[in-house]
Amino acid sequence: MDPSAILHIDLAAIAENWRLLAARAAPGAVAGVVKANAYGLGADRVAPALHAAGCRHFFVAHLAEGIVLRETLGPGPMIAVLNGFAPGADGDAALVPVLNSLGDVHSHAAAGRSAGQARRALLHLDTGMARLGLDAAEQARLAADHSLLAGLDLLYVMTHLACADEADHALNTEQAARFARACAALPKLRRSFANSSGLFLGSDYASDLSRPGCALYGINPTPGAPNPMRQVLRLEAPVLQIRDIPAGASVGYGASFVAARPSRIATIAVGYADGYLRSLSGQGGAAYRGLILPMVGRVSMDLITLDVTDAPGLVPGDTVTLIGGAAPSPDDLAARAGTIGYEILTSFGARYRRAYGAG
Ligand SMILES: *Cc1c(COP(=O)(O)O)cnc(C)c1O
Repeated sequence: MDPSAILHIDLAAIAENWRLLAARAAPGAVAGVVKANAYGLGADRVAPALHAAGCRHFFVAHLAEGIVLRETLGPGPMIAVLNGFAPGADGDAALVPVLNSLGDVHSHAAAGRSAGQARRALLHLDTGMARLGLDAAEQARLAADHSLLAGLDLLYVMTHLACADEADHALNTEQAARFARACAALPKLRRSFANSSGLFLGSDYASDLSRPGCALYGINPTPGAPNPMRQVLRLEAPVLQIRDIPAGASVGYGASFVAARPSRIATIAVGYADGYLRSLSGQGGAAYRGLILPMVGRVSMDLITLDVTDAPGLVPGDTVTLIGGAAPSPDDLAARAGTIGYEILTSFGARYRRAYGAG
């Protein structure tokens, strides 16, 4: 028996999620955000699946991610680098940097002018994140002098929502208004606005290019309301061992669980080193043939333990489901761990065998 867990990734569901978002965003285009190795799921498989579904614009965070993605996808689709190219560096001509400051604008425009060939780029305006993008003062300087853009071939002007997952947050409408005002003061450019949740906020957030990430991977872009996306993930693992313990015996580090009855405890080779967060101790649960097997004791580095007293048919080597299907979704686990589904996905470890298929 191979004791390692298998992370099943449904590429057809990812493609269907992209099509669902593309239909919402039409006539605008929809990109695929595949930074951080497609949120931990494997950009080498996810990006070609998105491309086959019709996606022609991709976003990564790092230059190095973009270089690998270009090799994966070949020439053609736009690959934009959200964090831009390092100051003074040429970057990579096959990739499009996001210009995140007036300094970025100056240096890329100057490079384009001196090469006699306009440099492709995206222009990022900060409208409320205070993270990356030209701030209000820089936007005003650009608005006052459009010649600063000579030497640039700007494919899109973009901004990023801070609170899109809270539909009623006042900052959403504020950012939409700031973005509209800032764009009106610049030469006419195509716009890129909504992330996953932004696509569900209404027509004020429509643009020429939306940039969803998490929703492609099945995370609920409308927290608090039913998830409109298809589930993408299932984490399965075999039972390594099963032992009987008497009432009063404890399980795991810190003896945090004490059996109230004679119990059967199953051990699974998944732990916090695999991204099964330690804060899920006592909070997780596995699915097995219609039963939910509660997790007991602490999550340790390489192992978790389940109370399988109520599943007498379960034997070592049988497979239980830890995420997806009848088991908690990434969003469920995130809520229990005090985090967000994004962190559950991007924490998935290298020891999981990733299996790509449908269903
Ligand atoms: C990560 C990111 C996205 C995608 O956000 P989701 O919430 O995952 O849809 C879009 N735009 C920018 C600038 C990002 O950093």
